[in-house]
Amino acid sequence: MTEDGLTATTGPGRTPPTDPGRHLTSPTTRSALRIQHQLLSSAREYLRGHGFTELLPPIIGPVTDPGARGSKQVDIDFYGHRYKLMTSAILYKQASLLAFDKIFCIAPNVRLEPLETAGTSRHLAEFHQLDVEVAGADRDEAVQLVEDLVVHTVAATVRELPKDFAELGRDVGAFTELLKGSFGRMRHSEAVAELRGAGHPQSPDAELDWAGEALLSSRRDRPLFVTDYPKGSRGFYDRECPEQPGLLRNFDLLAPEGYGELCSGSQRTNDYADIVTRMRETGENPQKYRWYLDLVREGVPASAGFGIGVERLTRYVAGLDAVWQASAFPKLAGVVSP
Ligand code: AMP
Ligand code: MG
Repeated sequence: MTEDGLTATTGPGRTPPTDPGRHLTSPTTRSALRIQHQLLSSAREYLRGHGFTELLPPIIGPVTDPGARGSKQVDIDFYGHRYKLMTSAILYKQASLLAFDKIFCIAPNVRLEPLETAGTSRHLAEFHQLDVEVAGADRDEAVQLVEDLVVHTVAATVRELPKDFAELGRDVGAFTELLKGSFGRMRHSEAVAELRGAGHPQSPDAELDWAGEALLSSRRDRPLFVTDYPKGSRGFYDRECPEQPGLLRNFDLLAPEGYGELCSGSQRTNDYADIVTRMRETGENPQKYRWYLDLVREGVPASAGFGIGVERLTRYVAGLDAVWQASAFPKLAGVVSP
C-alpha cells in the first residue's frame, strides 16, 4: 500500500484506491481536488461574466446521447418505463436554449466503459462534463470560446494555487504556450496523415483512436484542436458541412504532453428531417427520441456547444498519472468501489 491508499503501482494506469479514507486524506488527492475546485469556480466566473445562465442538468431520462464510443448505457426502472442514466447532456442542452440563449451546466455522466479502459489512465465509468451551448453560434465561435475558457481557468489556477502545483511536482512552465492562447489547429484528415506518417494505422473514417490521440498529444507542447471529423464517426447532432458533404462541423481539443482528449464539441443540426435521417444512418430508432424530436419539429435554435471533461482537465492541469486521481470517489470499469 502506498501513501495515497493505492494497492500497487503499475505504471501510468496505477490501480485505484481500495481505501477511500487514505485516498481522501492523501496530499496528492487534496491538491488535485483543490485544483479542480479552482478550475470550476473560474469557469463559472468566466461564463457568468459572459452572459451564460447555469442550469442544473437532468440525471435520468427516456433517452440519452447514443454516441459514446463503445461504452454501455445504464437502464433504470422509472415506474415501469425504461429510463437511462445520462451519458451526456446533449439533448437537454439543445432544448434548454428555448429558455436562454447561452447556457452551461456541470453534468454527471455514467458510461459503462469497456473493461480494458480501467488501465488507460483516461477513462472513468462516472465523470463530469462542463457543458456549454450557445444559440446562433457556429463551430469556430465554439472553438474560440473553449480556448478563452481554458486560458482563463488555467491562468487563475496557476495564479491561485502555487503550493498545490509544488506539492504535485507539476511545473507550471508546461502552460507557457497555453497561457499565450496559442492553441494548434488541424483538420481530422491532417491528423490522420500525421499519424499514418508516424506509423500509426489510424482509420480516416473514424474518431481518432486512443493510441492515436495520445501520440498526437505527446508530440506537442500546446493544446491542439482537431476539426472536421468524418460523418459516421460522431453523433447525429453534429451538423454536416454543406460545402463538404461527409465532413462534420465539429472539433475535439487535445491536451499536449500525451494527456489526450479534453473536450468534444460541434455546431449542431437543428433541422428535423436532417436529424431523423442522421439518426437512421447511425442506427438509432427515431421513435425513442420522441420528446426531443417533437421539440425540434416545433423549432429549437441553431447552436454550437461543447463538453469539457472535468476530471480530464484536472488530470492534465495537475499533471496526474491517471484520471481517477482527479475524483474523490472514482469509479473505474469493473472495479468495485464506494
Ligand atoms: P464525448 O461525448 O465522448 O466526446 O465526451 C466528452 C468529454 O468527456 C471528452 O472530451 C472527455 O473529456 C470526457 N470523457 C468522455 N468519456 C470519459 C470517460 N470515460 N472518463 C472520463 N472522461 C470522459
Ligand atoms: Mg469525444
